[in-house]
Amino acid sequence: MKFVKGEALQSWIYRNIIVNGFSDFSSVIGSDGLWHRYPYFPKEVKVEYSSIPDQELIGYLRLSGIGIKKASLLENPTLYVNEVYDVFPKSYHPVNYSKGKVTIAFCNLCIKAAIKNNGFGYIKSEWLYGSKCTIHNIELGILESTSRIDTLAG
Ligand SMILES: [Zn+2]
Repeated sequence: MKFVKGEALQSWIYRNIIVNGFSDFSSVIGSDGLWHRYPYFPKEVKVEYSSIPDQELIGYLRLSGIGIKKASLLENPTLYVNEVYDVFPKSYHPVNYSKGKVTIAFCNLCIKAAIKNNGFGYIKSEWLYGSKCTIHNIELGILESTSRIDTLAG
């Protein structure tokens, strides 16, 4: 299942875990109810990403803060490429959770519109690091617990 335009990586992974019939969201949400800054697809989850052109996929991931090339010339250039590969299923994942958490923020009106248009709600990448919805110009709501996000999955 492909991402929706503007959908956060965390939301895309979350929806694929559900569609694949799994209920372990530890690769995308922490026990503290926050998004992982660097989430990934569990290896059990089948996601068709190889059919997505590289440029589109990388552009998409960057909107969620993954694979952004560091400014420093001294930085290893393969690091940002590895960030992209680390998102997708493989047998081993280095635990990267200590690198950060992101508040699960959302716009109620956008989610309602998405459910109406797509049949499901999703989280936008612009909500990962923003505080307002740029479409409705309202403060974003905050999800306090992991259980409540189930309502977004529709
Ligand atoms: Zn909105």
